[in-house]
Amino acid sequence: MSLLVVAVGDLIGSPGKDRPFAAVVPVHLSFEDVRVVGPMDVSGRAIGLIDAVEADFTVTATAHLTCIRCLTEWDSHVEVGARQFFRRVPDDGGYPIIDDEIDLYEPARDELALALPSTPVCREDCRGLCPTCGTDLNSDPCGGHGDDSDSPFASLRDLFDT
Ligand SMILES: [Zn+2]
Ligand SMILES: [Zn+2]
Repeated sequence: MSLLVVAVGDLIGSPGKDRPFAAVVPVHLSFEDVRVVGPMDVSGRAIGLIDAVEADFTVTATAHLTCIRCLTEWDSHVEVGARQFFRRVPDDGGYPIIDDEIDLYEPARDELALALPSTPVCREDCRGLCPTCGTDLNSDPCGGHGDDSDSPFASLRDLFDT
C-alpha cells in the first residue's frame, strides 16, 4: 500500500477539518533530457469540504538534467506546490476517493513531472557543441571549418542536416 494513502472518511462533510501527511517515496520519471530516480518528498494536508477533499501539498525531488545544447549533466533541486481535489465520483482531471481514502502518490508524481524542465540548458547563453567537430564551444571556440568533408563527423553532420 502506498505510504501516501490518507483516510478521509471523517473529513468529507466537515469543512475545514484537516489531516497532515508526509512521506518519502520512490519515484522514477524518465524523459529524454530529464530523469528523476527518486525519492520524492511529499508533505501537506488533506482538508475536508462539503462533498470532497482538498489536498494542499509540496513535492520535492532531485532531477538529473542534461543540457540539450552541450550535453553537460547536473543535478537540480525541484520543488512544486499544488492543490488537488478528490471526490467519490471524480470530475474531469480530479482524483477519486476510494473506500474513504485518497492516495497522493499519483497526484504528487504528476505534479513533479509537470514541474520538470522540458528543455534543460546549463545556462541561458550556452553555445553548445560544434556540429562539425564536436568541440564544446563554451570552452573552446574551434575556429570554424573550411572544407570539412574529411572530418570524421561529416557523415554525422549529414545525419543531423536531413
Ligand atoms: Zn550547455
Ligand atoms: Zn568545430
